[in-house]
Amino acid sequence: MAGFAHAQFLLSVASLAQFPPDRGAEVAFAGRSNAGKSTALNAILGRRALARTSKTPGRTRLLNYFALDAERRIVDLPGYGYAKVSERERLGWEPLLARLRERSSLRGLFLIVDSRREVGPLDFALIDWADRVPVHVLLAKSDKLNRSEAARALRSAEATLEASGARPTVQLFSAVSGDGVAAAERVLREWLELLDPKKTPGTSREATGAD
Ligand code: GDP
Repeated sequence: MAGFAHAQFLLSVASLAQFPPDRGAEVAFAGRSNAGKSTALNAILGRRALARTSKTPGRTRLLNYFALDAERRIVDLPGYGYAKVSERERLGWEPLLARLRERSSLRGLFLIVDSRREVGPLDFALIDWADRVPVHVLLAKSDKLNRSEAARALRSAEATLEASGARPTVQLFSAVSGDGVAAAERVLREWLELLDPKKTPGTSREATGAD
């Protein structure tokens, strides 16, 4: 697959008025702070430093949009579960998240979970938020686990998700070893209707009357 050589930062959204036009297709990335979300995003897009990792302050507190092409976007959500994020700041995100979910261009949510942790209540809050939008969970930093630990982490996440009635798909992922990067990229391309280069996004959701 060709990578996303033209991906570029588009804009940060801090208020409802700042969302880009709701057309084409977009995919959201979310996860606890430090789960490895920015690193995963960069690895999947094949770009070294497009999304800034959490060591860099700034952009991470907003919804950050990246344009892949004229019709396709990634939206990087603020990391959650970080004690220093004020209640006020958190409340500020809620209307933005509510609006994001209403957008007909939203095709899916990647949820990044550190593979050494359980899928937790804050992760489930995002899964509930996603509602009718498909969710794909990346168990990130899998290089930190040995083979049997990784297999156990995957089984455990699958069982936890299934027991809760949630329907996300889940896979192991490591930006360091490359494990699962191609699989994640395939999911992204499928959601963005990029597997068939002649196709333009916009037909499937309209056809189901979801708009
Ligand atoms: P974010 O806060 O979720 O965006 O997390 P970052 O992408 O900034 O990653 C948090 C920390 O985990 C950084 O120190 C990364 O270098 C490290 N990290 C991220 N992905 C991986 C991975 O696949 N393997 C390993 N070993 N470390 C990772």
